[in-house]
Amino acid sequence: MVLSNSQTSPTWKHTASSLVAHGFLFVSGVSLVWALLSFVYHPNPNFETFKTNPNLCYDPPQTTFYDDPHLSYDIERPMKDWDMKRREWFKHHPSFNAGLRNRILIVTGSQPSKCQNQVGDHLLLRLFKNKVDYSRLHGYDIFYNNALLHPKMTGFWAKYPLIRAAMLAHPEAEWIWWIDSDAMFTDMEFKIPLERYENHNLVVHGWKHLIYSKQSWTSVNAGVFLMRNCQWSMDFMQAWASMGPQTQNYDKWGRIQKSTFKDKMFPQSDDQSALIYLLLNKNERAKWEDKIYVESEYSLSGYWLGIVDDLTNERGAELMMGDCRGAVGSWRRPFVTHFTGCEPCSGDHNPMYTWEACWKGMLKALNFADNQVLSTFGFVHPDLLNSSWVSRRA
Ligand code: UDP
Ligand code: MN
Repeated sequence: MVLSNSQTSPTWKHTASSLVAHGFLFVSGVSLVWALLSFVYHPNPNFETFKTNPNLCYDPPQTTFYDDPHLSYDIERPMKDWDMKRREWFKHHPSFNAGLRNRILIVTGSQPSKCQNQVGDHLLLRLFKNKVDYSRLHGYDIFYNNALLHPKMTGFWAKYPLIRAAMLAHPEAEWIWWIDSDAMFTDMEFKIPLERYENHNLVVHGWKHLIYSKQSWTSVNAGVFLMRNCQWSMDFMQAWASMGPQTQNYDKWGRIQKSTFKDKMFPQSDDQSALIYLLLNKNERAKWEDKIYVESEYSLSGYWLGIVDDLTNERGAELMMGDCRGAVGSWRRPFVTHFTGCEPCSGDHNPMYTWEACWKGMLKALNFADNQVLSTFGFVHPDLLNSSWVSRRA
């Protein structure tokens, strides 16, 4: 992996000082541990992004939103006029203009402490390597965070303060693409069809008809989504996070969600149900629906149980020769495979599955994806369940 530190980022000094000044970065323990790491990958020269590399050393004299003493990274403080502020920033950083509409920052992360599960940290490393490989191949930046940016927003709620902070820290990114730690790319070639989302600000995997006909809390998956870096997203996150554990209404929202979604088994308010609630509730729906794209044509977040049995080397190899976006034959590699419910870090998996099924599924998918990377280096994992064994590619 070729990594370069985020200190080369033009926004670094502003971001760091503002976070400290506003005191919104929560880190438990005796000393403040700065756990934000940003990795910038040099894109493959074959990709278009290479031609439009921004000037990372240029820091213009004009003031921008970073100089505003009231700037807050706190999710509990509403952001106003973000589109205008971001436009101003671009005016002073013209080298970032080229390629703007397709610029993606991938954001992912995990808990601050070590994994309880014996193989948890190993799995997190491999899951992260998978995302690094995908980002490198497509020329996207990636940011891994394992600090809690709001003390009460833990677990799946941890991503919202992070996404909001990432939007401010990276005004040059048009899209923030959140991907859960337990999700991985199983098609390294597929590229998100961004042109499809030109008129949308949030892209999430799911089935629209299930949202409205079944009122199921699994009709969309909130573990992988793209959010446009804009005021709409700031407002939407405000509404979304208003059902989170940092609010006084957390218990109330837990009850409302449980009565809205008959298939939801646990009492706590969760972000996935919160998202579907915003699409279902009449008043809320009118405010947000037209900007939310519910994607079901490809696996933006594919459910692992329905995928892993079909992953074989033969299929991987066959599809390497296919069109990156189209199907070959009647089967296509799933883009993202999400091991929802497997909890690789804690090991506290959903009792619906055995740990063995989760572990074998993850190994298979990781090696399946890695073969698409390793093959360009001339090697292959012949047995998807044996990570140690590689042989020369035929
Ligand atoms: N997470 C995080 N920080 C934390 C805990 C969790 O960023 O302190 C992220 C992590 O990426 C994890 C996701 O939030 O994948 C939580 O959802 P999880 O995958 O455990 O839920 P599931 O997909 O199984 O429903
Ligand atoms: Mn997940």
